[in-house]
Amino acid sequence: MTPPPKSKETTGVIEKLTVPLAPPSEDQTEVGNYFVANYPPFSFWTPEHKGAVYDVLNSPRPVDTNLGLYFHIPFCRKRCHFCYFRVYTDKNASEINAYLDAGIKEFERYSQTSYLAGRKPQFVYFGGGTPSYLSIDQLRDLTNRMKDLFPWDETEEVAFEAEPGTLTEKKLEALREIGVTRLSLGIESFDDHILEVNGRAHRSKEAYRAIAFAKTLGFDQLNIDLIAGMMDETPENWERCVHTAIEQQPDCVTIYQMEIPYNTTIFKEMKESGRISAPVADWKTKRAWVDWAFSQFEAAGYTVSSAYTVVKNPETTKFVYRDSLWEGADLLSAGVASFGHFGGVHYQNQADVGPYMTELEKGELPIFRAYPTSHEERFIREFILQLKLGRTRLGYFREKYGVDPLVRFPEQISDLQTRGYLSLDGDDIVISRDGLLQIDRLLHGFFLEKHRDARYT
Ligand code: SF4
Repeated sequence: MTPPPKSKETTGVIEKLTVPLAPPSEDQTEVGNYFVANYPPFSFWTPEHKGAVYDVLNSPRPVDTNLGLYFHIPFCRKRCHFCYFRVYTDKNASEINAYLDAGIKEFERYSQTSYLAGRKPQFVYFGGGTPSYLSIDQLRDLTNRMKDLFPWDETEEVAFEAEPGTLTEKKLEALREIGVTRLSLGIESFDDHILEVNGRAHRSKEAYRAIAFAKTLGFDQLNIDLIAGMMDETPENWERCVHTAIEQQPDCVTIYQMEIPYNTTIFKEMKESGRISAPVADWKTKRAWVDWAFSQFEAAGYTVSSAYTVVKNPETTKFVYRDSLWEGADLLSAGVASFGHFGGVHYQNQADVGPYMTELEKGELPIFRAYPTSHEERFIREFILQLKLGRTRLGYFREKYGVDPLVRFPEQISDLQTRGYLSLDGDDIVISRDGLLQIDRLLHGFFLEKHRDARYT
């Protein structure tokens, strides 16, 4: 196997930008979110639609819809230069405790609604931010109180995101005892220079230690995250990084392609220096790097299971939260800026911790904006999200929505077939490797006309 191709734009650290002020080409990494996390785009969700959430919450509980819980922990040791999430790096223990109390208050309010009362979650997800930033006592207290409100005895998966530098053996043991089944380590790179240049708080030593501890504790699934195309990345280093990841033998590896959304430190630097393209590899290079990584993992016995993941054992490595959400599950999402979904209505919470806590103190839910989806939008949402898996069954959409994607999207499908990104295999739609590597870009073609040019934030 040949090593990954050379990047045209592996430039210096943020202070030493050398990217030319040339007009952007289709492949340069410009500012913006391309990753399709949901549909319709967030920019269409508005405060005027908040009432639609309450209408669902006041309705009877559904009989056949799965429920997931998400809690957003917005604290980190340090803000990464590429981070666009709502995070705080300056909160002390009592402020964090107050935030956790507010989160519990939020779960409590939801547990008293007719739509959610008595329901047990199929999956639970702790994201952020850095959930592992919490102390052992905070984690135990938080999860005990959550379990009192929404018992976890029928829960198939408890996923937990962790930053390696915040983990100790004792904290990992506590996570196992709490019931975490899927531990996801934000490794991003095994190279200390890359970690430093990109503003990560941890270093490779902490990553190796966390992986080793976690393995001895027997989590059902250990995932590590990598990012292709971080600042200063080189083909040689990416090659080392992928091979190191293979040596570590995690159950699952998630690989993202670096993008530069608006509210990142990198974008601020670009704006100040008047640059249009970001100081990271271009899209063609990042796709080639991920393609190369996928082939290396396959050679080592892994299977590509979506546009972003490889798994060691497809029989045992399940993604309950992902698959359930992509099939329309309800998601009770608590915490600042978090996104949830009840009975066809999307919602997002207040984006700052102040208003978030004030709303809860007033006895209100801290919902900031919402969007009631139509039948057609729900169909499109599930269809595009499931295309990210690389294979999806047409019969699913005919049975659930009474819509055949081949009839609804004849032009888009034929266009993708002509370009070699999509094929039909019996009743399945199959996305080629080339298509998977740029799937988020391609999905915009299935959006309703009015949503196509929306800023995806
Ligand atoms: S660890 Fe994650 S959430 Fe925290 S600053 Fe870095 S990218 Fe953002």
